[in-house]
Amino acid sequence: MNTKQLLRFQDKIVFISGSSSGIGKEAALSFVDQGAKVILSSRNRASNEALVTEIKSRGGDAFFIQADFSKSTEIEHAIRTGIEHFGGLDIAVNNAGIEGTPDVKTADYKEAVWDEVIAINLKGVWVSMKHQLPAMQKRGKGAIINVASLAGLQAGGAGIGYHAAKFGVVGMTKATALEYAKDQIRVNSVCPAVIETPMADRAFDTTEKRNKAIAMHPIGRLGTAKEVVDAICWLASDEASFVTGTSLAIDGGANL
Ligand code: NAD
Repeated sequence: MNTKQLLRFQDKIVFISGSSSGIGKEAALSFVDQGAKVILSSRNRASNEALVTEIKSRGGDAFFIQADFSKSTEIEHAIRTGIEHFGGLDIAVNNAGIEGTPDVKTADYKEAVWDEVIAINLKGVWVSMKHQLPAMQKRGKGAIINVASLAGLQAGGAGIGYHAAKFGVVGMTKATALEYAKDQIRVNSVCPAVIETPMADRAFDTTEKRNKAIAMHPIGRLGTAKEVVDAICWLASDEASFVTGTSLAIDGGANL
């Protein structure tokens, strides 16, 4: 990789939700390594403070605001405070999410689980974009990447609330991309299949479940957080300057 590519996000300000672990944490480190300043927001203070320390020890810059992404006021506060801290917003990665109860079928799905999954995974993404878009309009440009799922493109036992939320994220991404294309704000989503993160460890917690998950992917393995983040970074970069409204499957062929 040449130096220009390594620093393709030099001085860009990037907001990342759900930065405690998995894809969000990997995204924070990758954007920083490519020159960005990151606004981190998640529920877990300790792991994010450790991440800020790690980023600063690498010579990067990061700012953490604790927030529960099921609560509109906390999302608004996190985005506003982060933008005030760094003075603007160029890129947003709306990643915070929970799995709910993947193995529970529709008739048995608990209403409380539905409400929580929809609040974080669907409404949380809309409320995030609601407060990110005006800041990007001020910049005259922007890129939003929503972390959806293969469960937002096809059915497959992820639980009705999770499917509803992720299909919703794919739909909101297209609708918002269309509304803001003239503002030079690109809005895309990534749709990963099963990725090696704490979420997948929880959802596939026995050897039998894990082997079944691996078998879903023609490529013969689960994906890595880095493989998702590389796609997120590409969508965020000027290399994807003509790409908006897309839902990019990152799935080892699982949707074929
Ligand atoms: P993860 O559990 O490691 O990360 C989830 C992150 O979201 C954590 O930082 C967690 O603290 C945060 N979060 C959860 N609820 C929150 C809330 N109410 N407020 C603030 N932060 C909250 O799992 P991951 O796999 O890295 O998941 C990241 C995203 O990727 C999620 O949206 C998930 O649905 C999506 N995804 C994951 C997979 C997979 O197989 N791992 C596949 C497709 C999509």
